[in-house]
Amino acid sequence: MKTYNTQQVEAMEAEIDRLRAELARARTSLWECSDCGFRFSAEHVDVDGEYSCPVCAEAKLRADIARKDAALKASLEWLTNNLIECEILYPEFTDEETVAIIRAALSPSLDERKAA
Ligand SMILES: [Zn+2]
Repeated sequence: MKTYNTQQVEAMEAEIDRLRAELARARTSLWECSDCGFRFSAEHVDVDGEYSCPVCAEAKLRADIARKDAALKASLEWLTNNLIECEILYPEFTDEETVAIIRAALSPSLDERKAA
């Protein structure tokens, strides 16, 4: 078993005290998001020990939804504009019933386009 002299033990105890103080400070301090400046308690640490800003996460989620919404609208628009071609190219998928379903799905975006 390895033995330590008094000086080494004191150095280790000092280091433990320093780490305890650092931990206590971290727990009571604030973390500030470098992107938006939002501050929250440093206690709210992620499982990986990092920090995630709830404001930026919310904004990112909104941006993701908006991007997907725009992509969906673009797809619907393309479908609207190419529905006749689709009926010709993919007759197996564009029987009357399917076309009616697609048209019903498109109708909100068609109304939006009329309103625009
Ligand atoms: Zn942020």
